[in-house]
Amino acid sequence: MPLGGLGEVGKNMTIIEYGRNIIVIDAGMMFPESDMLGVDYILPDWGYLRDKKEFVRAVLITHGHLDHIGGLAHFLSEFDVPVYATRLTRGLIEVKLREERMLERATLHTYAAGDAISIGPFTVEPYHVCHSIPDSVGLGITTPAGLIVHSGDFKLDHTPVDGWPTDQAKLAEFSGRGVLALLSDSTNADQPGSTPSEAVLNDAFHQIMRQAPGRLIIATFSSLISRVQQVVNVAQLHNRKIAIAGRSMVENTKMARELGYLDIPKEMLIDLDEIEKLPPRQVVIITTGSQGEPMAVLNRLATGTHRSLQIQEYDTVLLSSHTIPGNEETTYSVINRLFQKGADVYYGHSAQAHVSGHASQEELKLIINLLRPSYFVPVHGELRHLVQHAKLAHELGIAKKDIAVIENGYPLTFDGDRMQIGKRVPGDYVFVDGSLVGEVGPTVMSQRDELAQSGFVTAVARYDRKAGKMVGKPRIITQGFVYVPDAEDLLSRAGDVVRQAASVKRGTAPRKVEEKIERALSSFLYQETRRKPVVTVALTKA
Ligand SMILES: [Zn+2]
Ligand SMILES: [Zn+2]
Repeated sequence: MPLGGLGEVGKNMTIIEYGRNIIVIDAGMMFPESDMLGVDYILPDWGYLRDKKEFVRAVLITHGHLDHIGGLAHFLSEFDVPVYATRLTRGLIEVKLREERMLERATLHTYAAGDAISIGPFTVEPYHVCHSIPDSVGLGITTPAGLIVHSGDFKLDHTPVDGWPTDQAKLAEFSGRGVLALLSDSTNADQPGSTPSEAVLNDAFHQIMRQAPGRLIIATFSSLISRVQQVVNVAQLHNRKIAIAGRSMVENTKMARELGYLDIPKEMLIDLDEIEKLPPRQVVIITTGSQGEPMAVLNRLATGTHRSLQIQEYDTVLLSSHTIPGNEETTYSVINRLFQKGADVYYGHSAQAHVSGHASQEELKLIINLLRPSYFVPVHGELRHLVQHAKLAHELGIAKKDIAVIENGYPLTFDGDRMQIGKRVPGDYVFVDGSLVGEVGPTVMSQRDELAQSGFVTAVARYDRKAGKMVGKPRIITQGFVYVPDAEDLLSRAGDVVRQAASVKRGTAPRKVEEKIERALSSFLYQETRRKPVVTVALTKA
């Protein structure tokens, strides 16, 4: 049963259950869309597992991207279970858990492509896949009902940065054993052809390093370790030194170097404060913020608020990542500011400085043909991606009844020679907002939306129940509705409306009067301004 990542891009989590045994694949998080006001990030709804806590045996992680590991700290605070990850992925998990003060409480195990691990009735066999981060795996999981293959995020890069292509031999071996179900990455299922190799980026990096008249600032995700390696490799040929900026980039590259996944010769690496000593043409700064994140270095450079770095004339900035849908506005505003400060900025398709880490249609077909599963389940993607992927599988001869296009919360049951789609398990977005987890739901979200539209107006007054009228003058408090100094007249008339509405029959209950005032005030404000601020009324005893 998928608990996250199906019907959306992000917060991936799938569970496999047999008898009293459950294993969890990935525990990701997702960034909010722009209408989810104030939300920091979103977790999968793992409510289904709460009743079955003692059955959960392990979490298996496919790779170190946040949409696969970002929910782990929260998950482990509820479920005390071991986590399995490859070396680099484990390193990234440790950085993340330390940040969230969960590292001491976590039980981490390292597994590697080629291993076979027994967990309860399951045998788990991670196999190597190419993706935009090294040390990614897909999983072959032998269950008493048959072999399930979960692809993880993957592509079939024949010339990957680390020289280690997707293990098709292992897939062929799985195929020989007979595959019950294939769960395969659908992120790029609407892209024809094959995804270009990471190697094509070398040309773009060469060109830009040749042309850039001064310093080159490259922004990307801090987890794109292979991208960092490519930049380093090309920079070396252009006699440029490397400086790393941004906490997560510093931590991740440090960890990846220690573990041997990132090779930066010592003499190439310089500190931020050494930059000034070098001619600008000999400097590359690798940093975070390619999504316009407000706290990241790139935005601080754009706004001139970084403590040691400033954009200067002849700087070239390259955004080497695609913009996640929903982040366009903030990203473009950062880009505009960088231009304003005099930098030359390369971004988007025209920069040709990003390739996807996910397989396109021809690669997806190859995997389906190689494995010839009895059942096919497209995973990882919005509904349109899942449907496209299902179409591909059907074209390759898999019967429609053997393909399950499902979204989060739909259990699939395999018993012998049938696949059944069960009733959906209730689930929702779990919003994380500051230290609140799950307390902020759809109601709060729509209240925030209303407040954001026109602000609020609150009337505070003293009410004499016996007399059935107001005592003294009402106070009108407002935020985000009108600029108070310029709206004295409107607000004083609003006060009159409140007073009138508060003259009622003797003995009327305050709650009734509040409602009456609320209605009168709302309609007055709407008539005057054609806006609908949130109106509240508070009466105190006179
Ligand atoms: Zn990924
Ligand atoms: Zn992913």
